[in-house]
Amino acid sequence: MAYNITLILGDGVGPEVTEATRRVLEATGIKFNWDMGEVGTDAMQKYGTPLPASVIESVRKNKVALKGPVTTPVGSGFRSVNVALRKELELYVCLRPCKTYPGVPSRYQNIDLIMVRENLEDLYSGIEYERGTPEAAGLIKFITDSKRGVIRPDSGISIKPISEFRSKRIVKFAFDYARSNHRKKVTAVHKANIMKFSDGLFLACAREVAKGYTDIEFEDRIIDNMCMQLVQKPELYDVIVAPNLYGDILSDLCAGLVGGLGIAPGANLSENLAIFEATHGSAPKYAGMNKVNPMAMMLSGVLMLRYLGEKEKTQRLEKAIAAVIADGIDVTYDFKPASPEKAVGTSQVADAVIRKYRQG
Ligand code: NAD
Repeated sequence: MAYNITLILGDGVGPEVTEATRRVLEATGIKFNWDMGEVGTDAMQKYGTPLPASVIESVRKNKVALKGPVTTPVGSGFRSVNVALRKELELYVCLRPCKTYPGVPSRYQNIDLIMVRENLEDLYSGIEYERGTPEAAGLIKFITDSKRGVIRPDSGISIKPISEFRSKRIVKFAFDYARSNHRKKVTAVHKANIMKFSDGLFLACAREVAKGYTDIEFEDRIIDNMCMQLVQKPELYDVIVAPNLYGDILSDLCAGLVGGLGIAPGANLSENLAIFEATHGSAPKYAGMNKVNPMAMMLSGVLMLRYLGEKEKTQRLEKAIAAVIADGIDVTYDFKPASPEKAVGTSQVADAVIRKYRQG
């Protein structure tokens, strides 16, 4: 039997880390039919859209995708393909495990955190009003007329919707995950002291959902305090659940705790679809250099194997990656801060992981 998987190479360093990952996945002996999907700038030039409908259809059909990072133009140009894919497919969970692998150079040891980020609403809703447009002026007038406050006429506005349904759904996911993975605590992150109707709703929903899980400890933290606590006492935390933007920022913070973006995997999930991708972006300055760490993407591949139910091979592949890290020889520059000249390239890391896998 072969798994049909949509494979999106992405751009920037995407094709390199995705190819390295494809190679290690195939070295497990599991058979894959890769259904190639093209998105981003290249797709824009070829098909007039950065996210062709055929790619969405492919993920719907195959139900599982492995995806490299895709560049989003800053400030102007097309909107994020990554966000659009998650929305289109209702991939409401962004799951990002962050754990220390022995041998990774980091200020911290023994970190084992799970970041659960709501993926579909909050300031990522994409509902924005550009400065100086009649729409922005209309909204500013409405807000002024309704005496909610004063917004300067030269403002741009981004809308932050937080719903009861989606808040409860993501917190429930976090608790279910905690329960089935023998985790002890869920921490909900918010800024409910300031944004009472959006983050306040998220917190109220979290508290209500928590009542149904008396076997799991629950607490909440204000986002700014949470950032400090994670830097000072990360061992206090276990599963963290947050609305979209805080979840995005905390994911990178947690990646920093365990050695950086080169080792931070992720999954975007719905009830029946999954796209596996690293936390990191397309790192354009390293594109085509065979330089960046493919392990974040490989570990996303490990999450994919686990999702597919390939238990034994999942463990063996993770062990092989961990062994390459522990040896500290065939690793990229980010894992060799003291002697970057001894670092190997992206594809050599894949060779080393395959060798370790074969040794068992
Ligand atoms: P980035 O994650 O691409 O890179 C930031 C820095 O992190 C890099 O310069 C590099 O020093 C380090 N880094 C990233 N990946 C690494 C790896 N695999 N190995 C070693 N070091 C690594 O973030 P950015 O520069 O802010 O974003 C670049 C582009 O990627 C933007 O267009 C952004 O929108 C996009 N992006 C895409 C995704 C996605 O596809 N899911 C996620 C985040 C950012």
